[in-house]
Amino acid sequence: MQISTRELITKYNRPGPRYTSYPTALQFNDVKDPVALLEETRDSTAPLSLYYHLPFCESLCWFCACTTVITCNRGTAQTYLDALEKEMDLTLPYLNTENRLVKQLHFGGGSPSFQTPEQLDRLCSDIRKRFNFASDAEISAELDPRTLTEEKVKVLANHGFNRTSFGVQDVDPKVQKAVHRIQPDEMNRQCIKWVRDAGIESVNTDLIYGLPFQTVESFRQTVETVLSYEPDRLAVFSYAHVPWVAPAQKILERSTLPDPEVKFAMLLETIDILTANGYVYIGMDHFAKEGDELTLALKDGGLHRNFQGYTTMAGLEMVGFGMSSISQNGVSYRQNIKELDDWHAAVANDTLPAQKGYHMTEEDKLRKEVIMTIMCSGNVVYQEFNDKYGIDFANHFSDGIAALDEPAKDGLVEFNNNGFKVTDEGRLLLRNIAMPFDGYLQSGPGRHAKTI
Ligand code: SF4
Repeated sequence: MQISTRELITKYNRPGPRYTSYPTALQFNDVKDPVALLEETRDSTAPLSLYYHLPFCESLCWFCACTTVITCNRGTAQTYLDALEKEMDLTLPYLNTENRLVKQLHFGGGSPSFQTPEQLDRLCSDIRKRFNFASDAEISAELDPRTLTEEKVKVLANHGFNRTSFGVQDVDPKVQKAVHRIQPDEMNRQCIKWVRDAGIESVNTDLIYGLPFQTVESFRQTVETVLSYEPDRLAVFSYAHVPWVAPAQKILERSTLPDPEVKFAMLLETIDILTANGYVYIGMDHFAKEGDELTLALKDGGLHRNFQGYTTMAGLEMVGFGMSSISQNGVSYRQNIKELDDWHAAVANDTLPAQKGYHMTEEDKLRKEVIMTIMCSGNVVYQEFNDKYGIDFANHFSDGIAALDEPAKDGLVEFNNNGFKVTDEGRLLLRNIAMPFDGYLQSGPGRHAKTI
């Protein structure tokens, strides 16, 4: 790196989107007519990626910024599944399901493992009854070891789940206590064993750095412990402190949060440990084993990014079900109502429960492709955009290109005869390199978490 860590943080640690979409959800507007958004792609044959938001958790982890509902009442989940089934039936007439296959299914939340085995079985059957799946579909669930049982794992395996993602966050009991998430190491090991014994192939573990009481040394120990679980993939997220979105995060301010310099050192240390142990840094906090599909896609330019993060599958249309879920096709975004009662009321009233939406302009589509190219391959070839969009890239994006002069001096980007390329160092700050091409940040940074 051609710049000291301190300088780098001073220059680049500023609020910025994670670009799981472009434009980001901050640009979505109130939707008057959700049906009109769905009508636009009624005849589409693009493969589907289904997302089910299962919001329930037994207790709140104080770092969490997800849309959750805290309860121990499984009856609430039963009522939710009734409404989910109805939401699917309200949406189905617009999805052309006879002529396309599901290539991705993901249960997120909340905690999908909160549901009882019977509830999981019912939801999976409800979905299978309504959609046709590709034989190589990626079927995944986020699992919380504190609510997972072997029976639940078997239900998921029986319904073809082939990927799991475990929230671990940190194995240090002091950190766990400070964030209100007690999860012993033995519990993690047991859950991963159940998953592997059931024949579910891929295990991802999520970690978070930047939590109270973490140090570079303590986080190194967490990473080493998690390495002994032999996950296929790891997501090592920078803690996003956004108390205006997640007020419980204010509780963490009582303890000392690691400063950006320590956080950056944790990231560098994590990359060192993981790459020394056969993992490849995919980008934006994600690592995968050598030989994993994501690693191969990174090498051959086949990496893509959507609301699920990095994926090898291009051109999928995402359809979200449940409160707060987001749907995305080639032309628009649609987000469901975020409050549980209001979402239930809309579905009970036979209306599609969309609250926000966004119709992309041609300029949005162009900027999205530039930003996703930076986030995925990191290799921006101007001529490819000129040919596809009929523009003169150097002229169209003269401000964005000029804004990369400083990152280029700092060794984060290299210009070449065809365009520019993100360097290995730059891949640690992908958001900063993408931000100059974001047409909406010019009018203000929005309320995003900082990039480091
Ligand atoms: S981190 Fe996961 S388990 Fe904890 S509150 Fe958030 S969604 Fe629930």
